[in-house]
Amino acid sequence: MTIIMIDSKGNVTFWNPAAERLFGYSREEVMGKELHRLMIQDERLYEMYKEAFKRFQLSGKGSVAGKTIELKTKHKDGHEINVELSLSAVRIKDTWHALGIVRDISERKKYEELLYRQSITDPLTTIYNRRFFMQMLEQEMERTRRYGKSFSVIMLDLDHFKKINDRFGHAAGDKVLKSVADMIKGRIRKTDCLARWGGEEFIILLPETSVEDAASLAEELREQLSSMTIPEVGRVTASFGVAGYRSSDTIDTILMRADSMLYEAKDAGRNCVKSQ
Ligand code: GH3
Ligand code: MG
Ligand code: MG
Repeated sequence: MTIIMIDSKGNVTFWNPAAERLFGYSREEVMGKELHRLMIQDERLYEMYKEAFKRFQLSGKGSVAGKTIELKTKHKDGHEINVELSLSAVRIKDTWHALGIVRDISERKKYEELLYRQSITDPLTTIYNRRFFMQMLEQEMERTRRYGKSFSVIMLDLDHFKKINDRFGHAAGDKVLKSVADMIKGRIRKTDCLARWGGEEFIILLPETSVEDAASLAEELREQLSSMTIPEVGRVTASFGVAGYRSSDTIDTILMRADSMLYEAKDAGRNCVKSQ
């Protein structure tokens, strides 16, 4: 168990062997040194800790005492470690000391992050999945209502994809889906959200983008896709439906509009963009 203690000045008064292993600093290196200086690299965060610690110095109370907190810190060699810190106040000879029991939760954090990433991505294309897209769309809808901005949605569906699978096999079809996702990801902005909507359907959320701008982006993507040569398969095309946000919209109505535009594009002979 990792146990550390600091006095009312914030200087280390106790540092056990487990602490040496966890943080990489030997007892000799840290005894009498200011712990927060050592552990908190970010200057602003450091100032916050100093403030929080002031109240503690006087009364043994305040936001640092009696709590379990999770925080990121750094090992001596520079790598980040996630720790859970349980703090208690100890009164020794009229002054308050802070006793910390530290647990390394780096593995747990890594696993949690992995699970989170998996829950929001599509495994084949590694872009976002439909569920995450819906969350983003909901957020964007609220933001747009509050600030009176605009946003648009592009929905695209690969043309005659069944034939590609039939001719070249499912594995080749999968490669096409990956290439399409990569191409789009490379072209859109960081603030845009690309997701796999269904089998061979993709959807893009474009914050602060008018329907006209979204339609011209869709046109660019359409052209880029149709002129791309995919190894073993050759050329593929897609049909695009674009919908711009209207103040009367709900999530369902804007998605329905994008969908119906997509079907107009299919009806119009595929490999084209329709917008509304
Ligand atoms: P359209 O131009 O009208 O869209 O024709 P289409 O053949 O693309 O349309 P349809 O919806 O009939 O077929 C979609 C095909 O996409 C059928 C399915 O086998 C294929 N598909 C869906 N998901 C995947 C996938 O994950 N991998 C592969 N390889 N194919 C998929
Ligand atoms: Mg489809
Ligand atoms: Mg299709």
